[in-house]
Amino acid sequence: MAEARKLDLKSDIKYLKGVGPKSAASLQKLGITTVGDFVTYYPRAYEDRSCVTSIGDLMPENEESIYTVIGVIVNIKEKLFGRNRSILMATISDGTGYLQVNWFNQRFLKKSLTIGKRILVYGKIGYAYGGRGMMAVTRLISFELLEPGEAVPQQGILPVYQATESINQRYIRRLMENLWQSGPQIGEIIPQKIREKYRLLPRQEALHSIHYPKNNEELARARESLAFEELYVIQCGLLLLKKDSQQEVDGIRHLMSGSLVKSVIKSLPFSLTDDQSNAWQDIEKDMERNVPMRRLLEGDVGSGKTVIALLALVKTVENGYQGAFMAPTEILARQHFAKFSEMLSGTKIRVGLLVGSLTAKNRRETLEKIAAHELDIVIGTHAVIQDDVHFDALGLAVTDEQHRFGISQRAALDKKGEHSPDVLVMTATPIPRTMTLTVYGDLDVSRIEHLPPGRQPIRTFVRESDRRQLIYEFVKKEIEAGRQAYVVCPLIEESESSDENSHHIPSAEEVYAELSQGIFRNIPVGLVHGRLKKDEKQQTMDDFYGNRLKLLVATTVIEVGVDVPNASIMVIENADRFGLAQLHQLRGRIGRGPYSSYCILVAGSKSPLSRERLEVLRDTSSGFEVAEADLRLRGAGQFFGTMQHGAGDLKIVNVMKDTDILLRARQAALETMADSKTLESIRPYLTEKYKDKFSQINDA
Ligand code: ADP
Ligand code: MG
Repeated sequence: MAEARKLDLKSDIKYLKGVGPKSAASLQKLGITTVGDFVTYYPRAYEDRSCVTSIGDLMPENEESIYTVIGVIVNIKEKLFGRNRSILMATISDGTGYLQVNWFNQRFLKKSLTIGKRILVYGKIGYAYGGRGMMAVTRLISFELLEPGEAVPQQGILPVYQATESINQRYIRRLMENLWQSGPQIGEIIPQKIREKYRLLPRQEALHSIHYPKNNEELARARESLAFEELYVIQCGLLLLKKDSQQEVDGIRHLMSGSLVKSVIKSLPFSLTDDQSNAWQDIEKDMERNVPMRRLLEGDVGSGKTVIALLALVKTVENGYQGAFMAPTEILARQHFAKFSEMLSGTKIRVGLLVGSLTAKNRRETLEKIAAHELDIVIGTHAVIQDDVHFDALGLAVTDEQHRFGISQRAALDKKGEHSPDVLVMTATPIPRTMTLTVYGDLDVSRIEHLPPGRQPIRTFVRESDRRQLIYEFVKKEIEAGRQAYVVCPLIEESESSDENSHHIPSAEEVYAELSQGIFRNIPVGLVHGRLKKDEKQQTMDDFYGNRLKLLVATTVIEVGVDVPNASIMVIENADRFGLAQLHQLRGRIGRGPYSSYCILVAGSKSPLSRERLEVLRDTSSGFEVAEADLRLRGAGQFFGTMQHGAGDLKIVNVMKDTDILLRARQAALETMADSKTLESIRPYLTEKYKDKFSQINDA
């Protein structure tokens, strides 16, 4: 069956020689369903098999102490630790000496690693721990069991793939060879003109070399071509999205800011920082152009983005348009509504609220007012972009905390007016500079780097849970001195914590019960989480804003935007259950007033890695540094997994290191957009690739 057809990259992997139904299922678990997925299942490392070294000739612990050794297993032992940790220890010999090899937590290997088997090991060599001078593989890169009498396998540089229990290294290598022997058809993606200018390898050659490089130079060139391709495709996708949304309809040409904007700026209780002024100028310029604004305003939590959004909204109102402001949660929408109403109370601007929990009557009335232009600024949640919301004249849409909104929701906003309204996206998700382009490449970027003056720094502590008593006594003292405090928990209720390997994770409900009946029994304590009814949640938040509640036990519902300057302490229970960027966001809820602020991270686990992660927060208050550390400790896949699009496609790009390639790919993508012939040659590919993600490219 397999032989009959010529494979191309879209072919189902099951047609590849050597793949049966069972292995097809296992491959699928690795994300491989097509030949194209498989050919981009890039090696995670390479091994140089050009020579096999005798154990007697090994030179441990010098610079180049990575070796290939072949020997016979002469002894095997297993040690068990705790519930699910184990070490398999083999001793191998080749007649010139003995070498120890360890496998951690891979008990399934016991069946195959038996005395008398010949084995090839490849890895870093050192002295065995406590082994009295015995040599050991201190970092095993790969190994392979050899058939009796089998010759030394393949010479040269070999690919090392991420293997799993059901799919071993050898099998993946064999399949890869089958694939290349079948002569797969691999066409180009990148237009000829760009390929020539940026001197990219033919795609087929790059893909072949990445699996079978003859030497390091060839590997480097192949990797660079493929990384370029990944970044170029994403950049083109994003730029095409931008181009289509900006060209389809004319934008709104706002006039230079006049007296209304000026009076609102004057009425602020502070003057704008330099960063804020610069961002505001960028936005004014964009709004005054005929091309629809597509701008991202990036700034750490509390850096003062909201006031800039307010000015932009005022500007659109001054020009006779309406403005929409979308917040990620209802709590936040209400909070912004209250704040904007207050800040605009000296003007005639009419501000409305549109959220899911309005009564039917209330909602209808609000919709009528929006359609009749009896409201100038509408603040809401996703409700604002639902189909039944018709603005009389939408001039500007602001979305706050973009990472909660999909790109298609942004597109829905685009369609709310006759002219494409200006769009301002705000995010406090700090991402390393160079990655802004990859994630938000369709937007122009303004950044607020420095916080407004006079902020109290937040002091962050990492503590073990056996110190909780002391921690809460401290919290109580601060509350008695007039402050308010947050306690954040990772789970809502007990049943969620079914993770049997770990210790018990107290839920928000349990912590609330414990604290409100215990040390804080004479202090008003509230509980807020995502499963409460909307009005219960709102009531609790109102009570906390109003300083009627002193302590708020919460889940991450308070992660973004909540602004209570009197709250100066945050205790985060089981802090290691959160991502670093998320902890940083949470921490941004405090330090908003003139008081000394304290964030106490209670470590749920004693592992050194988890401690190291939390200490990143202790040691820096910069969101960008936190993001970079997060990226380094977690890897790009997970970091961007929660974000909207694009970066999930990065299989070969190293987001920390490939900045140069990124900038060249960006340049190439800009050139592609500027030249219609080149653009048309890649447009079908982009449309196909992003049809689900960028639905409006197809709609156009
Ligand atoms: P963000 O939206 O970026 O998280 P906010 O706009 O909510 O930040 O600002 C946080 C706090 O800082 C608010 O209380 C706001 O009034 C205040 N603020 C904003 N800009 C300034 C400034 N230039 N000087 C002093 N305080 C400011
Ligand atoms: Mg404009």
